[in-house]
Amino acid sequence: MSELESLYQVQQLDTRIFELREKLENNPLKEELEGLRGRERECSEELSRVEEDLERSTRIQAALEDEIRSLDQKLAREESKLYGGQVTNPKELRGLQAEVRSLKRKKDELETKLLEEMEGQDAVKARAGELRSRGRELADLIEEKEGLLERESGELASELAELEKEREKWASGVSEEVMRLYEKILAAKQNLAVVKVIDGVCQGCRVELPGKEYDRFLKTEGVFRCSNCGRILVR
Ligand SMILES: [Zn+2]
Repeated sequence: MSELESLYQVQQLDTRIFELREKLENNPLKEELEGLRGRERECSEELSRVEEDLERSTRIQAALEDEIRSLDQKLAREESKLYGGQVTNPKELRGLQAEVRSLKRKKDELETKLLEEMEGQDAVKARAGELRSRGRELADLIEEKEGLLERESGELASELAELEKEREKWASGVSEEVMRLYEKILAAKQNLAVVKVIDGVCQGCRVELPGKEYDRFLKTEGVFRCSNCGRILVR
């Protein structure tokens, strides 16, 4: 195998290696995962807010229940005074009746508030349930995609390792000087430094070699570069 043939093999392998590296880096699963993680974060943030609302509502309900209890006690005291027979003064009795009515009205108001709070809390509880189950779904999906990404990356990485090993084998048949030139052109010419000439046309820049240049190329054994794009030409 001539040096140029070895170099051509190195180029073929490098092309595949660059493709795989690109695929490894830009796996669309990465972007998908980022989106899913963002949605999971939003979901858990909303859940924290909803849980705070739930706690607040529970505290409000407990306070209302306390207030209703103490109103009940007060009402019981006033009613026993009213119906107990100890109070006989009509003016005092009317005063007690008014007080009882006012306490009952107050109690009604508090009970209505309590009911509204409980109904409101039911809606918040339902929302919390939705958010928890969505959070679980998202976590499952993320785990699945992470597994998939890990598998795909692992496969690509081992394929890459194989290719790099093979590249090293071919590269050992190329002199350091030619390898340096190859790498310089590679960096300057979109990772394509060694190309075939087919029917007198450089496959790198698609320009036909002028007749005399083509003749010289056919006679040259060593490195011959395209006068148009500078790539190394092989037959
Ligand atoms: Zn060219």
